[in-house]
Amino acid sequence: MMLEALRAEVFEANLELVRRGLVLYTFGNASGISREHGLVVIKPSGVTYDVLKPEGLVITDLKGQVVEGELRPSSDLPTHLALYQAFSGVGGIVHTHSSNATAWAQACREIPCLGTTHADYFRGPIPVTEPMPPEEIEKDYEWNTGRAIVRRFAGMDPMSIPAVLVAGHAPFCWAPTVSETAHLAGILEEVARMALVSVVLNSEVQPLSDPLRDKHFLRKHGAGAYYGQTRKPS
Ligand SMILES: [Zn+2]
Repeated sequence: MMLEALRAEVFEANLELVRRGLVLYTFGNASGISREHGLVVIKPSGVTYDVLKPEGLVITDLKGQVVEGELRPSSDLPTHLALYQAFSGVGGIVHTHSSNATAWAQACREIPCLGTTHADYFRGPIPVTEPMPPEEIEKDYEWNTGRAIVRRFAGMDPMSIPAVLVAGHAPFCWAPTVSETAHLAGILEEVARMALVSVVLNSEVQPLSDPLRDKHFLRKHGAGAYYGQTRKPS
């Protein structure tokens, strides 16, 4: 089998989505990319997580051609490919229909950055894509979903706000590795839940100040990060 380590990591990430209650039935998928090989490992389409095996994952090239695997790749593969092509720092992508994040996507409301839990991972609100025009829905829908996300991030750093809400649909998130992305999907759902409750408790609630938001984001990310343990050389 090709890319065994990445295959194992993608498999584990898909299971993590189930363990965290982020997916119901087959709603959701995780993928990882080997930039070195130009290959993507992704969950197969319509296979329930209880019968999923590492060897059941599908490997495709960046055009979506299957390179290894018996099953068809997730139907969301073209969305993943559009993001891998546009966002060079991304090593893993997760899509779920987790309840609270999806509620914000259905309401077509960005998730405001109301607290430091949010700011630890996202340096600002989680944006919502523009509604897709009928021609983009009729043809190449999944690819165009990816392009709508990329358009929404024009002029933004996707690694500072590594998640999006697709209007009327659900969230996608990404990170340098697929394991980190599965973790982030859980954080996104919790941040969405806390923001929803905050807005209910106080409809006038204001976003965090820029200095407090940036303090929390930057102490965990980037050149000046100091939170947690110093990374060991790998
Ligand atoms: Zn979906």
